[in-house]
Amino acid sequence: MASEKIFPYRFDGQACKTCGGKCCRGQQGYVWVSPKEIGKMAETMQMDAAIFAKKYLSRVDGRFSLREHVINGEHFCCFFDLIDCRCKLYAVRPEQCRTYPFWNEFKKAPERISLECPGVKPIDPGSVRQPPVDGITGTRHPAPG
Ligand code: SF4
Repeated sequence: MASEKIFPYRFDGQACKTCGGKCCRGQQGYVWVSPKEIGKMAETMQMDAAIFAKKYLSRVDGRFSLREHVINGEHFCCFFDLIDCRCKLYAVRPEQCRTYPFWNEFKKAPERISLECPGVKPIDPGSVRQPPVDGITGTRHPAPG
């Protein structure tokens, strides 16, 4: 659980209200989804999982990632609502989205995540863990891995 790990920053979920979904859009990226997550998302959309997969998933290196839309050179997760600037499947968003911005890869590079997410705030290095707030939108991973 990301909430039990130690990170050199905290997250202010209030930033989600005004950031415009920076974590669900931008450069090309990947949102990895497990078979269980695919099942939940398909069920929420009242779709057969196979039809859901055909329509919304890409196969990358043997895994599944949510497809993207590209508008004016900007990449958007296929479930990002361009009008409301929020996730259309927020309640069943994948773990990758739920745990953002508390990813291990940012532990030693908090400056990277600070640039990307306005909700990330520095903390005193002596402080302990920062639980993710359930207001996190989610994000696309920049590369397979
Ligand atoms: S929270 Fe995740 S699934 Fe939802 S729009 Fe953002 S990247 Fe896509």
